[in-house]
Amino acid sequence: MPKTMKAAVLHKIGDGLKIETVARPATGPGEVLIRVTACGVCHSDLHAIEGDWTPHPALPLIPGHEVTGHVEELGAGVTEFAKGDRIGVPWMFWSCGTCEFCLQGMETICLKTEATGYSKPGGYAEYMVAPAAFCGHIPDHVDMYAIAPILCAGVTTYRGLKRTGAKPGQWLAVIGIGGLGHIAIQYARAMGLRVAAIDVSDEKLAHAKRLGAEILVDARGNDPGAEVKEKTGGGAHGAVVTAVSARAFEQSVTMLRPAGAVSFIGLPGGDADQIRLSIGQIVNGEYSIRGSNVGTRQDLNEAVAFAARGQVNADIETQPLENISAIFARMKKGDIRGRVVLAIS
Ligand code: NAD
Ligand code: ZN
Ligand code: ZN
Repeated sequence: MPKTMKAAVLHKIGDGLKIETVARPATGPGEVLIRVTACGVCHSDLHAIEGDWTPHPALPLIPGHEVTGHVEELGAGVTEFAKGDRIGVPWMFWSCGTCEFCLQGMETICLKTEATGYSKPGGYAEYMVAPAAFCGHIPDHVDMYAIAPILCAGVTTYRGLKRTGAKPGQWLAVIGIGGLGHIAIQYARAMGLRVAAIDVSDEKLAHAKRLGAEILVDARGNDPGAEVKEKTGGGAHGAVVTAVSARAFEQSVTMLRPAGAVSFIGLPGGDADQIRLSIGQIVNGEYSIRGSNVGTRQDLNEAVAFAARGQVNADIETQPLENISAIFARMKKGDIRGRVVLAIS
């Protein structure tokens, strides 16, 4: 096995990624070494390299948290995987397992959690290591490139829409039809929900329609909230916001039916991290606003199972690692349909 590997590395916030040859990582106890096949490009990776969030990522950083690959080597004590197994690595690299949140099955909010491609090196590389207990099994018949986005965009929207409490036959507003949103529509449909799609791009709305959204609303219009209320006959029962825009979060509450709930998923960060909402509107409508942070390991297994059954299919475009800067430039302009997946090997 080679002692070095190719990786995309960030040395300084704002400097962009450089393709370099670096040392191949070694496994510690409980960890697996993974030969990376594919890694999806999530908007969170762009936030990471631009320093949009506090705290900033650990430098030097290898981003990437929608990873699929094969187990190449087992660290001491690993029982969950065998050599050669198909494996997926999500954002949640590790959680402590013993705090009050972990013990209640809320490992996504563990205060000691480590994040793949943020506090730990991720999958924009030929190899990576990860704790076996936090990785997912990828079924044999599944395409390793097409399933990669399920490791973040999938599990995150799956959990986010469950957290709205919307039931089969009810309306879900999906706000932002990008990498996450186009997958949210498919989970919603698979779970029997009706979808209203909201974006600021004609192309994204057309994509939503092809995926089965019944109502399309352009958020550049005068009053998207009123439009959603009118077209759904009273408002959405649930909403998920995946847009990278503070305004979209403010508008989401105006789209809800009384007693409706919205899951905040997007993380615009920086100056776009603050919103203004009407207290009166929230009180009188008994609305719920919930944060939703990626997903637990159980959410991951369930989200992968939907995709493995063919009920959820990420719309992907594969690209070589070398094109990463151009991919981020397109992402900033909203110029990507679905998800770009890096074909690493
Ligand atoms: P993306 O760039 O693929 O998609 C963003 C979409 O939002 C685009 O379709 C864009 O046209 C749309 N949009 C922009 N402004 C809008 C507006 N005002 N109204 C409606 N739509 C608008 O990004 P992505 O990879 O889907 O990620 C989306 C966000 O979710 C990012 O901020 C990312 O960091 C965050 N994220 C959060 C979690 C979590 O666990 N909470 C997990 C993954 C990603
Ligand atoms: Zn992500
Ligand atoms: Zn914990």
